[in-house]
Amino acid sequence: MEMKRLTERVYMTGHDHATDRPALGAIVGERATLIVDSGNSAAHARLFLEQLAAVPGAEPRYLALTHWHWDHVFGAAEMDLTTIAHPLTQQKLRQMQSYRWDDAALQERVQTGEEIAFCAENIIKEHPGALRESIAIRPADILYDGRLTVDLGGVTCEIFSLGGEHSADSTAVYCPQEQVLFLGDGMCQEMFEGPWSYDLPDYEARLQKIEGLPCKWYVNAHWDPQNADDFARAAAQMRALGKLVGAETDSVRVYAQYRRQYGAEPDEAAREILDSYLWGNRKRGRQPLR
Ligand SMILES: [Zn+2]
Repeated sequence: MEMKRLTERVYMTGHDHATDRPALGAIVGERATLIVDSGNSAAHARLFLEQLAAVPGAEPRYLALTHWHWDHVFGAAEMDLTTIAHPLTQQKLRQMQSYRWDDAALQERVQTGEEIAFCAENIIKEHPGALRESIAIRPADILYDGRLTVDLGGVTCEIFSLGGEHSADSTAVYCPQEQVLFLGDGMCQEMFEGPWSYDLPDYEARLQKIEGLPCKWYVNAHWDPQNADDFARAAAQMRALGKLVGAETDSVRVYAQYRRQYGAEPDEAAREILDSYLWGNRKRGRQPLR
């Protein structure tokens, strides 16, 4: 993935679905650089640091973790920067320090629900051969609770809790001078309790925390960066489809309602959202009013 200059002082590399590498970011201040997420392996972290070394003035000093999921934290030991995380992220990192990553251990955690098959598969793909034995979990140095501002010189980063059903520790990093918001996976689905799902009130609560922030760019870790129009359109679709599904748990009724409302079949993206809301309702045992 090429290093991309998103704004004057914000750089990023894109996501890669091959082994579920997330987008990584860097905010380059006059005195210090803050990196957003460490990548899904030592190799991913090294690649990012090498690319960042070519950026004039980049002086990596801080690493902010958006949440504890493996693909965001496995590179932290390699980066070995002053690492900032939510207390709940730290709790999980401490827990993961005692984990083994061989096939049997991964399989066992998938069975108990501590891990999901999707992540286990990508951990294996990202760490071929003996590489898995070298996985090291590095805990954070600074725990923020609520909100923390880091002054990098000429530019600041506001690190704040987004929470939500994807991961309770979800953290966002906002750079007001550059109007860039790094969201990690903070706007994504719940993935650990069966089929991936959305809950509209949960999504709305997350949206409310970021809606007042002037933004040119929204960086979701596993999607392409969205400009303000793209983000607004995506959020409007999420709301509209969430309302369309309501408390319904029956996909036939929901798809029929979609056809009535939009006069067309839902495309793949819309189907994924509809199905996610349906699963959210089923998980919560909701009953539609008939
Ligand atoms: Zn995640």
